[in-house]
Amino acid sequence: MTGNITFTMIKPDAVEANNIGPILSVINKAGFRILAMKYMRLTKEQAGQFYAVHKERPFYGELTEYMSSGPIVAAVLVKDNAVADYRKLIGATDPTKAEEGTIRKMFAKSIAANAVHGSDSNENAEIESNFFFSQLERF
Ligand code: UDP
Ligand code: MG
Repeated sequence: MTGNITFTMIKPDAVEANNIGPILSVINKAGFRILAMKYMRLTKEQAGQFYAVHKERPFYGELTEYMSSGPIVAAVLVKDNAVADYRKLIGATDPTKAEEGTIRKMFAKSIAANAVHGSDSNENAEIESNFFFSQLERF
């Protein structure tokens, strides 16, 4: 079974660098359709809820601070095999290890400020999409 949705965020560093447009262009050119999208700022508490799975990791405090430091774009993307194909498109968490042509290689500043989020499983794609969007916001 291949999933057909994934969840992404364009993170504060990429928004700050005026890279919303260029990143959405890469996403569309790779064959993803936008099912839902919003421009918003997370509170530190909301960022903490979203990344709760990383609560015990050493970078959790820095991560939630960073993810609430400015606006983000949240979106649900549709494509066959969306989760795996999008992880491939964004590249490795550490941009110095990301392949040429990947979003993180092109736009990320550091391992923390790495331009975009991408779901890591179909189950998390559902959970993360539901965290941000109601059914009325999906087209
Ligand atoms: N992160 C960090 N330092 C690390 C690992 C991760 O600051 O050593 C941040 C980074 O922004 C990353 C997020 O925490 O995107 C979530 O980590 P994960 O391992 O889930 O990476 P991803 O799935 O985003 O590639
Ligand atoms: Mg992850």
